[in-house]
Amino acid sequence: MTTEQIAAHINPWEVAQHQFDLAADKLNLDPGLRRVLRQPRRELTVHFPVKMDDGSVQVFTGHRVQHNLGRGPSKGGIRYHQDVTLDEVKALAMWMTWKCAVVGIPFGGGKGGVVVDPKKLSSKELEALTRRFATEIEVLIGPERDIPAPDVNTNAQVMAWMMDTYSMHAGHTVPGVVTGKPISLGGSEGRNEATARGTVFCIVHAARELGLDLSDTTIAIQGFGNAGSIAARLISEEGATVVAVSDSTGGIHNPEGLDIARVVAWKKEHGTVQGFPGATDVSNSAVLEVNCDILIPAALENQITSRNAARIRARVVAEAANGPTTPDADQELYRRGVFMIPDILCNAGGVTVSYFEWVQDLNRDHWSEEVVNEKLREIMTRAFAETLAMAKREECDMRTAAYLLAVQRVADATSIRGLYP
Ligand code: GLU
Repeated sequence: MTTEQIAAHINPWEVAQHQFDLAADKLNLDPGLRRVLRQPRRELTVHFPVKMDDGSVQVFTGHRVQHNLGRGPSKGGIRYHQDVTLDEVKALAMWMTWKCAVVGIPFGGGKGGVVVDPKKLSSKELEALTRRFATEIEVLIGPERDIPAPDVNTNAQVMAWMMDTYSMHAGHTVPGVVTGKPISLGGSEGRNEATARGTVFCIVHAARELGLDLSDTTIAIQGFGNAGSIAARLISEEGATVVAVSDSTGGIHNPEGLDIARVVAWKKEHGTVQGFPGATDVSNSAVLEVNCDILIPAALENQITSRNAARIRARVVAEAANGPTTPDADQELYRRGVFMIPDILCNAGGVTVSYFEWVQDLNRDHWSEEVVNEKLREIMTRAFAETLAMAKREECDMRTAAYLLAVQRVADATSIRGLYP
C-alpha cells in the first residue's frame, strides 16, 4: 500500500477522539464533561448546485462543523479537497478547539470542507462554488458565531469571495466574518506567513531545548503549500539547510541543500517541485524518511503511521499540518526519543494571527507587521514554554502535554458556565 492508501484507511475522527481520551484519562475528567467534549456541538452537511462553464449543473457536497463554542465563537479553516469527509472535518474541528485553547485565544473550534479538486475548476467556477457554499453555511457563520479562514487549497481570494457574499446578504460590509482576507479588505499583515512563522518559532525553541544549532541542521518538508513553502523560506533564513521538499505531485532531495527561492520559482513555472535542477526526484512519502535533523510534515493527515515511523530519521518532528501523525506512530517516535512538536501547538500561529485579524476588523484598526509578528512571537513562546513545562512535570510527550493544557482549559470554561437549562 502507498502512504496515500494507508492514510485513506485511517479515520481521523477516531484518531482525534483517541487523542482526547488519552488526555481525559490522565486528567480524570468528569464522565459527563467527557461525553460533552467528545462530540461536536453542530454538524452541517450541504449539497449544492454550481453552474459549470460548459453550461452543466454539478452538485457538490460540503460540511461545516462546530466542535466547541465554550470559550468563544468557533474558529477554523475551510478546505477544498477531493478526499474531504465529514469525519475528517469533525476531527479538524476538534483539533481547532484544542489549538485555540493551547495558545489561549478566545475561540472554540470549527472547520469546513468541500469535496472538490479545485485544480480542476476554472476561476469562475471556483468563485461560484465558494459563493454558493458560503450562502449554504450562512446559517452557522458570522463574526460573533463562527469565523472561517483558509486551509488546504483555499486562500485570500476565496476568503474575499466569502466575505463579499456574506456582506451582500447582510446589506453592509462585515470584514470580521472570515480571516485570512486580502490586506485591502481588512486582512492582517503577517497572516499569510503566520502558520509557518509559528512553526519556525517552535522549532527555534525546540532546538534551544535540545542543544541543536539551527545553522548546523538539515530539514525535510512534506507539503509545499502555504505552510510548507513559507516554512522552508523562514527556516532557511534561520540558517538551516533544507534538503528535501515535496508537493502533491512528488518530492525532490539534495543532501547539499535546496535554494528555496529557486524552488518556489520552479514550482510556479512548472506546477510541481519535481525536475528541479541539481536535485533527485523522490516520492512524496520518501521525503519523510530522508536523512535530516528536523522533519516538517506540512500536508495532510495520517502521513506518519506505524508503517513508516521506524524509518523516520529526524530528531524533531514539527507538525505544520493538522493530524499528520497517528497515535501508534506517536508512541514509536516517543520511545525512540524523537522530539514531537504537536500540530495543536506547532501550527497555531495561523489561527493566532487570524485572531489578531478579527480583533483589528471589529475595532476597524490596522496593525503593522512588526506589531503582529511580535505579538505572535509572545504567544507562541508562552505556549511552547507552558507545554514543555507540562511535559517535564508529567514526564510525557509534548502532544500529551499540549492536550492536558488545552482540554483542562476547555473543561474549566465548560464546567464553570454550567449546564443549560
Ligand atoms: N486552517 C488553519 C488551521 O488549521 C487556520 C484556521 C484559522 O485561522 O482560523 O489552523
